[in-house]
Amino acid sequence: MFYDQAKIYVKGGDGGSGVVAFRREKYVPEGGPAGGDGGRGGNVIFIADEGLRTLVDFRYKRHYKADRGEHGQGKNMHGKGAEDMVVRIPSGTLIKDGDTGEVLADLTEDGQKAVVAKGGRGGRGNARFMSNTNKAPTLAEKGEPGEERWLILELKLLADVGLVGFPNVGKSTIISQVSAAKPKIADYHFTTLVPNLGVVELEDGDSFVMADIPGLIEGAHAGAGLGHEFLRHTERTRLILHVLDISGSEERDPLEDYRIIQEELRQYSPELAKRPMIVVANKMDIPGAEENLKRLQEELGSETEIFPVSAATGEGLKGVIYRIAQLLPEIPVPEILIREDEQHKVTHVEPTERFIITKEDGVFVITGKEIEKHAKMTLFESEEGLYRFQTILKTMGVDGALRAEGIKAGDKVQIVGMEFDWED
Ligand code: GDP
Ligand code: MG
Repeated sequence: MFYDQAKIYVKGGDGGSGVVAFRREKYVPEGGPAGGDGGRGGNVIFIADEGLRTLVDFRYKRHYKADRGEHGQGKNMHGKGAEDMVVRIPSGTLIKDGDTGEVLADLTEDGQKAVVAKGGRGGRGNARFMSNTNKAPTLAEKGEPGEERWLILELKLLADVGLVGFPNVGKSTIISQVSAAKPKIADYHFTTLVPNLGVVELEDGDSFVMADIPGLIEGAHAGAGLGHEFLRHTERTRLILHVLDISGSEERDPLEDYRIIQEELRQYSPELAKRPMIVVANKMDIPGAEENLKRLQEELGSETEIFPVSAATGEGLKGVIYRIAQLLPEIPVPEILIREDEQHKVTHVEPTERFIITKEDGVFVITGKEIEKHAKMTLFESEEGLYRFQTILKTMGVDGALRAEGIKAGDKVQIVGMEFDWED
């Protein structure tokens, strides 16, 4: 099977911070707390799109960061939440964790969604910390950091455009001339078929997959059991490119070649033979090609589109690509029949690790997603904020764990780059 792969970084937006503020009204000497909450950070959401074919876009843009939430303000004004960042990916893309390789989601159907990086929640403003014992809290939370991770995207490539034609007419040359991106090939048995597939990128950012169908046909005959994979390629193929050596350089008549290949195609797959087709008259740089082209045009009439090209010099190839790009969106994707091995699941894996204590040069270093999150949300400048963080250390069991490691007064503790002296 041919795979397209991309490694990308995603980050949910940080939550906006809550603020410390007090009501300030004329003639009211001591107003109550009025610091608003921060807004939620945006999620990064992937949505499967049947219209996309390759992961080419993800080679150019590799970082996807959603916006952060707005900070809260005085007068109990809450910060606005950020919009989610919605990224379209081709249907059939497998999403894996970049570090562990674990499958996070398998978006097989058009419109399926997965949250790949959650936005952080907004920090609470000081108004939310008011209680009977604390009427004027000087404490607020900073926004929760958005989730961040590397992802590996993996997509089985299925050919949109299938090339047919006799050996040596120039199919491989055409594919290598027009395809900018060479897809990654994984676990493939027919190494001779590997060069016969390419991803064609268009100037507007669209892309499609082109493959040598006779190669696929030969492969399907040769490899019992692999037939299904090949069949998928041909089922997906929406447009046939019939390639001819119009110069007749191998002492063959291109018109006769044309008839033979059309007949073979009908025998191999009547369905495939019914798909729209354009003819590519290759090797126009060789003398004698012009006369053969005229004969072919007369024989096929005006119903069949014929593009004279030279894969060797590149002449005419752009025209073929533009025409394909024009035609493809108009041709419906044939129903893919074989699906039994495809999963339809969307999972979201939560980080489980709470905290880890390590000792480096006598300093107690605390790491771990959850505890780091709390630290990042703490307003350490405020006495009350510091006190609250100490309470969190106690309730999460960090406090007890540090004592078990033998911490004593005066020892240094480090978390998210900040250092504290330990007090009992
Ligand atoms: P395939 O068997 O259909 O994949 O054909 P290839 O792409 O391998 O090409 C067969 C031979 O024809 C190679 O030696 C190519 O260099 C040559 N060839 C391909 N296209 C052209 C062309 O436009 N002009 C000329 N003169 N030779 C070409
Ligand atoms: Mg070839």
